[in-house]
Amino acid sequence: MPTLDLSIVIPIYNEEANIPTLYQRLRGVVEPMGVSCEYIFVNDGSRDRSLALIHELAARHANVRYIDFSRNFGHQIAVTAGLDLSQGAAVVIIDADLQDPPELIVPLYQKLREGYEVVYAKRRRRQGESAMKLFTAKLFYRILARITSISIPVDTGDFRIISRKVVEALKQMPEQNKFLRGQISWIGYRQTYVEYDRAERAGGETGYTYRKMMRLALDGITAFSDVPLKAATLMGFVVSGIAFLVLLYTLYARFIAHDYQPGWPSLMVSILFLGGVQLISVGLIGEYIARLSTNVRRRPLYIISDTNIPVTISPEALT
Ligand code: UDP
Ligand code: MG
Repeated sequence: MPTLDLSIVIPIYNEEANIPTLYQRLRGVVEPMGVSCEYIFVNDGSRDRSLALIHELAARHANVRYIDFSRNFGHQIAVTAGLDLSQGAAVVIIDADLQDPPELIVPLYQKLREGYEVVYAKRRRRQGESAMKLFTAKLFYRILARITSISIPVDTGDFRIISRKVVEALKQMPEQNKFLRGQISWIGYRQTYVEYDRAERAGGETGYTYRKMMRLALDGITAFSDVPLKAATLMGFVVSGIAFLVLLYTLYARFIAHDYQPGWPSLMVSILFLGGVQLISVGLIGEYIARLSTNVRRRPLYIISDTNIPVTISPEALT
């Protein structure tokens, strides 16, 4: 049974500009709540002074824990490591850049105490984000909602509070390509949300390149939907059907109407089009196979180079 009320998991990638303010604000929020709390900073291979700052905090405050990765493993893996080593009865996942307001932890925690197992923070508005990011994010969440069988809430990130039950369930999910918000929806139980306005990044810059965003989006889709695979097949049928009709028309024009021309344009178009569809289909299959193969390899998700968390958890819980 957990002896601690709350764990706060904070993934860190080059956040030297935000760590001191973040910690101050978190403490300012958590202390009046009168709960016992640990702060777990997961340093995901930062190249700046983040680790030094975290060490400093850990030296001064007994409830600051850190996990230092051997390299950059990515945001979702960093959060996973934090969850794996957390001990609280409830766990908050929060970004380090203060885009997720720490003040929201109070209503999140309250809702959890009302009997929910998951309370996520839903963005009402997002400030200071490029139009491109807003558009791609919106598009992604809508597509995901359409093609997956579970309902992943739209316009939410990983900022949320989850109960110990949910953390233990997450630990049992073996996938290597983590998409935590999807996995948490899949787990079920009573879930609800609290709305907030998302602020700009306080300092530093985003660690989420378009490449990382694209990978997260594909992980989300391939982990929770077979629709793209099936769409490839469907597209193949539709295109073949059209090709068959064109074939009939060509035969008709050649032998009955005798109205035909050396038609290389149509030839080129159909060859290119078919080639395109085939490439799309093969590519989609490749996406799934790539994920299959990473799961078959069963490598550890991350390598910890240093931590001040005593490992009280049984080793098999960590695999
Ligand atoms: N982050 C991480 N590893 C990465 C990229 C980001 O741990 O490879 C952390 C980052 O420090 C922050 C959180 O994940 O606490 C969200 O990242 P970011 O703010 O850069 O993403 P955005 O808000 O732009 O989507
Ligand atoms: Mg951010």
